[in-house]
Order: sequence, then C-alpha cells, then structure tokens
Amino acid sequence: MVDDLKIGVVGCAGRMGQMVIRQITETEGCVVAGGTEPAGNAAVGVDLGVLAGLDPLGVAATDDPAAMIAAVDAVIDFTIPAATAEHARLAAQAEAVLVAGTTGLDAEQEDAVTRAARHVPVIRAPNFSIGVTLLLALTEQVAGILGPDYDIEIVEMHHRHKVDAPSGTAIGLGEAAAAGRGVALEAVKKSGRDGHTGARAAGEIGFATLRGGDVVGDHTVVFAGDGERLELTHKAASRQVFAAAAVRAALW
Ligand code: NAD
Repeated sequence: MVDDLKIGVVGCAGRMGQMVIRQITETEGCVVAGGTEPAGNAAVGVDLGVLAGLDPLGVAATDDPAAMIAAVDAVIDFTIPAATAEHARLAAQAEAVLVAGTTGLDAEQEDAVTRAARHVPVIRAPNFSIGVTLLLALTEQVAGILGPDYDIEIVEMHHRHKVDAPSGTAIGLGEAAAAGRGVALEAVKKSGRDGHTGARAAGEIGFATLRGGDVVGDHTVVFAGDGERLELTHKAASRQVFAAAAVRAALW
C-alpha cells in the first residue's frame, strides 16, 4: 500500500488556504500534514480543521515554515510574493514538491521559484482552473488568426481584497495574446488609462482592472475590430476549482 501524500498548506488561514485544507480532506491519497501563517497571526496554534470550518484534524498551524516543510512531501502555497519566494527555497532544501499559485511576484521572486524547480518538482500557474487553461490557448490562437486589425483589451474583475493588479491571470492572457501575434507583451502592454491619453496606439494590448464585492475572478479578452467584436470570457464562481486543481497537481 502506498502512503498518503503529506501536504503542508502555507497561508493556511487565507481564503485559498482554507479551501485547500477542505479539498485535501475530501481527496483520496493525501492528508493535511501541516500549515503555517506568519508569527503573530491569530491562526497560529489553531487546529487546521477548525481554521477551515471542519472538525479538528489534530494538527495545528505554526509559524515555522522550515520545520513544517521539512516534515511534508508537498507544499501548497497561495500566500504573498515574498513568502512564496522563501517557501520555494525551503521546499528545494527539504526536497518537497511545491504547488504555487501566488500572483504578483517580481522578477527576483519568480527567479527564486525557478531556482527551486531545478531541484524539486514545482507546479506554478497564475490560475489553476481548467477553463482559464483553455482560455489561454484560445486567446493565443484567436490573436494569431485575427491579427493586428483587431485591438486586444483584457478586462478583469476580482473581490475587494485583492492586492495585485492586473491579476496574474490577466497578465498570462496578455502574454498568450502577444505570443499569438509574435510579439513580447512588455513591448505592447498598456495598463490602465486615465486623462488625456491620446488615441490608442496600433498593436497595443490593453488592461483594465475592476475591484469589488466578493467576485472570485472574471476575465474577458476583447478583440475589437471595425464593425464587430469578439469577446472570450471566463468566470470563476468558486475558489474550489483552484483548490481542487492544486491538490490534483500535488498528487500528480
Ligand atoms: P488571502 O489574503 O486570503 O490569503 C493569503 C494568506 O497567506 C493569509 O492568510 C496570510 O496571512 C498568509 N501569509 C502571508 N505571509 C505568509 C507567510 N510568510 N507565511 C505563511 N502565510 C503567510 O489571499 P487569497 O485570496 O487566498 O490569495 C492568495 C494568493 O493566491 C494571491 O496572490 C492570489 O492572487 C492567488 N490566487 C491564485 C489562484 C490560482 O489559481 N493560481 C487562485 C486564487 C488566488
């Protein structure tokens, strides 16, 4: 018999962290083996099941990621960019699989994750849903077919607590659109417009960000031509789709 995969959930009290704990408990072949939050967080010392609104699991949250990660087979990380960079280093040291969904990492923090991936399996995505994975492929394909006569704008909306903008998924969609056109996103990216902006430059890929309420994540890629407009939209109704895919990724 194969032992259950021991999964550690960093950021265990967060919106995604709690969802991941619930998902692990409902998934065969894995167990919740640990969880962390930063020192001073009210969740430290609290049972991980209780944090996630379940019966107690007999494992409490700690503020010691090094010890927690050393004791598990895989780490699931939906936290903040600086923490993810540090967790990647610890996962590589402990030879633990890392599934990382945090968005908004700067180049240095992304580099820390890439370095970890030289030593351990790292599964990284700005959006773990199947729908968005398909949307990325469709966006690249449509951008290539329609060509530069169709202006590309990416509109996203998330809940009022989200701290980075545009979302990691929106940037991923922009990269897919740019790849479809054979250009680098950085060369054509236009994020946010305000005031006297002048006319739209040819070839731009624009981003617009909306924030409010409890929206889990809406993304639309607009291809605006003369006389017609094509829009590809994805709407996530629950964080469960992300959590389920992250747990599946850890098991894989
Ligand atoms: P959240 O604020 O609810 O949760 C983040 C948690 O991380 C908090 O509980 C916070 O205290 C904790 N944290 C911060 N620093 C830490 C540290 N050093 N050690 C341990 N824990 C730490 O946020 P959320 O809505 O759960 O989103 C988290 C991240 O995941 C964001 O970057 C978001 O964009 C991203 N996200 C990605 C996907 C995806 O599919 N890839 C889906 C949803 C959210």
